[in-house]
Amino acid sequence: MRRIIIFDTTLRDGEQSPGATLDLNEKRQIARQLALLKVDVIEAGFPITSPGDCEAVQAVAEEVKAPIICALARTVAKDIDRAWEAVRKAAKPRIHVFCATSEIHRRYKLRKAKSEILRIAEEGVKHARRYCKDVEFSPEDASRTEPEFLAEVVSAAIEAGATTVNIPDTVGYAAPEQFAELIRYLRDHVPNFKKAVISVHCHNDLGLGVANSLAAVKAGADQVECTINGLGERAGNAALEEVVMAIKTRRDFYGCRTGIVTRRLVAISHLVSTLTGIQVQRNKAIVGQNAFAHEAGIHQDGVLKERRTYEIMKPEDVGLSRSELVLGKHSGRHAFRVRVKELGFKLTEEQIQVAFERFKALADKKKVVYDGDIEAILEDEFAQVKELYRIESLHISSGTHTVPTATVRLRDAKGKLLEDAATGDGPVDAVYRAIERLTGVRMRLKDYRIRAVTMGKDALGEVSVEVEYKGQRLSTRGLSTDIIQASALAYLKAINKALTRRPRKTKTARRRKGL
Ligand SMILES: [Zn+2]
Repeated sequence: MRRIIIFDTTLRDGEQSPGATLDLNEKRQIARQLALLKVDVIEAGFPITSPGDCEAVQAVAEEVKAPIICALARTVAKDIDRAWEAVRKAAKPRIHVFCATSEIHRRYKLRKAKSEILRIAEEGVKHARRYCKDVEFSPEDASRTEPEFLAEVVSAAIEAGATTVNIPDTVGYAAPEQFAELIRYLRDHVPNFKKAVISVHCHNDLGLGVANSLAAVKAGADQVECTINGLGERAGNAALEEVVMAIKTRRDFYGCRTGIVTRRLVAISHLVSTLTGIQVQRNKAIVGQNAFAHEAGIHQDGVLKERRTYEIMKPEDVGLSRSELVLGKHSGRHAFRVRVKELGFKLTEEQIQVAFERFKALADKKKVVYDGDIEAILEDEFAQVKELYRIESLHISSGTHTVPTATVRLRDAKGKLLEDAATGDGPVDAVYRAIERLTGVRMRLKDYRIRAVTMGKDALGEVSVEVEYKGQRLSTRGLSTDIIQASALAYLKAINKALTRRPRKTKTARRRKGL
């Protein structure tokens, strides 16, 4: 059976989602989980855009060995040099070069004639091949390029040494039948077509990213570029979990398979959602909270009698366990360690110790601790940012006939204790004002969300905030059974992150519009 190559670009295209910036440790953590998921290729970044991006690709290349590690570059020598610098230590490096080919891009963006584009594409691929034997080429905006010219460019890129040619629907304009037709057209009109792997990269502006990718697979494409939770520029990319589960569930129709360990889909979806701060809609296919929930009585009845009446996939196959209850107050360190491993986390002894202590503290407050709670603790622990300020204590007074007031004590990096109080139009506002007075940092709160991590009134509360500071957007979260404390933790973490992060949105960053 034909095996489809799954190329994950969560760390590159996904990270280009507005508000989804990931730091080096967060990228490494996602990359490790992608390796456990057994994706074939990880596109780890676009190194020329910033030193931080380059470092993150380097870190992933050095640490994550099983998948191919890929870096994006324009067909420009300095981009390609930097991309190679970033991936050269990978066990399996790949350089991915791209150049726009559609008329509208040629005329307005590049101001170049067809012949020049052909030359640039060839030179870019050749330059990359001098470093690396695995080179991917993408004609940007391929779906709006004249098919004859596209065939010419693809053929030239393969001739120049591209081992994979990716056909991007950069602006999400294609329709499934038409996109499949384009793949068939290339197969019939590119003489050296069989010498390269044909890939697709579909954006979701019309909600067709997955449909277009699958239509292309049916028409002969061998690699699909996608992201966890469908993250990506604008409306995002084809969602990895949907592409993979469609191929698996409808093997009868597509006649192919992937190497993905589907049991890990839900866990990695949670992780990416937590670290990027972009929540998954409840009714999202495969990984949404409602994806396997049967509310209607008639459905429940059917599912209880015979699951297949209403379920086309098994929840276990995507990693939703039927029995979620795991640990309680009396569970020991060993049980905790085993569970952590099963959930796919790799922790040092020291980290286990810290996480175990947090688990015990939580188990004291809550009777039962679910997988979701443990994941939340671990993700929180991993996502730790350098603590310039730490909360020592917090006192709130609020009610129906009082002015909400917060007294906050913080400890700074030098160990000095700071205390101040503030009022606000509610307890969260009061706490945030007090924190701002203590740290002297003022941020714009763009979004504030609160949710229960698991079920029950005693559940852990998770507060996610998105803030803007000096033109940068940052997302963080705080976790506690006390929601005011969780709110304070999330906000203070954002301040710590803002103060320790190096500025990254430079001029080149603004230009970084890849594929
Ligand atoms: Zn893209």
